[in-house]
Amino acid sequence: MSGGDMLDFEIRPNPQPVAAAEREALMANPGFGRVFTDHMVTIRYADGKGWYDARVEARAPIPMDPASAVLHYAQEIFEGLKAYHAADGGVTMFRPDANAARFAESARRMAMPTLPEQAFLDSLRHLIEIDRAWLPTSDEGSLYLRPFMFANEVFLGVRPAREYLYAVIASPVGSYFSGGVKPVAVWVSPTYTRAAPGGTGAAKCGGNYAASLAAQAEGAEHGCEQVVFLDAVERRYVDELGGMNIFFVYDDGTLVTPPLGGTILPGITREALITLAGQQGRTVVERPVEFDEWRADAASGRLREVFACGTAAVITPIGQVRSPDGEFTMADGNPGEVTMSLRQTLLDIQRGRTEDVNGWIH
Ligand code: PMP
Repeated sequence: MSGGDMLDFEIRPNPQPVAAAEREALMANPGFGRVFTDHMVTIRYADGKGWYDARVEARAPIPMDPASAVLHYAQEIFEGLKAYHAADGGVTMFRPDANAARFAESARRMAMPTLPEQAFLDSLRHLIEIDRAWLPTSDEGSLYLRPFMFANEVFLGVRPAREYLYAVIASPVGSYFSGGVKPVAVWVSPTYTRAAPGGTGAAKCGGNYAASLAAQAEGAEHGCEQVVFLDAVERRYVDELGGMNIFFVYDDGTLVTPPLGGTILPGITREALITLAGQQGRTVVERPVEFDEWRADAASGRLREVFACGTAAVITPIGQVRSPDGEFTMADGNPGEVTMSLRQTLLDIQRGRTEDVNGWIH
């Protein structure tokens, strides 16, 4: 595609879709990321040719040469967002344009070509249309969309590849918290950091997640579900979790969240919460938060609630905080009032139960 931003998608329906009864059975209890729909989108890219061969076709393995660049030097990025059944029977997405913009930013950081925003949005729309039967109708269920792109040039030299494959797959998911919202225990790793200044922390590239797994395992050894990463320079300031941003709620109702400085992922949920809290008349401050300050303010009671946020779980309260220096509990260990109210407000907007004054729903 060298001209405008429009791509023609060739639609080839899967001749052997999953039978309705089997699909219903799979969707009854889908969990996260294990059940997939009948189709996928693929678009190819080559230097000099641009984006071409956009297709919607049967989901299938992608043949790959063993010398494909991504297998060696990890030029790979992805996104994650959800489609919902709307109250009026339609299908909605929450701020897919923001995911398109972040995808382009990630591509730039990884020296990859940028997919035009319109092609990104069209790819999602096509997949949802053809796989609509896979959209959960339950109150908390949704269709998780996973756009991704990787270098598939067959070449072992270390330089930006000249050929890429963009794809989208979809996975029906149930409620993140099946037994009601429950605070998680987090581990503050003394060993590992996630992203250094000048590094790839603000990009959604697979390598960031590969690098977080050892920290995640360390956290699990200490009975924690999630890891809080400190800044890589001083190991003093709170950056974010492995897959979520973080907010602090003080006793005067003020919300504080670490600033975007290149080492944390600019979460779309984070940005939405900053806007929503402001519209509710709360003060929201983006400033660095020291881990020592977190501990001290939790002890004094000045800090009332801490929560993590992201597409998958929307808002997750943080209960226990563990580090090699000991552990402490936020408030009484139960989800906080502000946490739960912001969670409900955002869910209501995403599900079309509240007026969307910000124009976030597509
Ligand atoms: N930080 C990281 C490292 C993440 O992987 C995610 C999930 N995309 C987030 C924050 C939250 O981002 P979002 O609200 O856009 O899902």
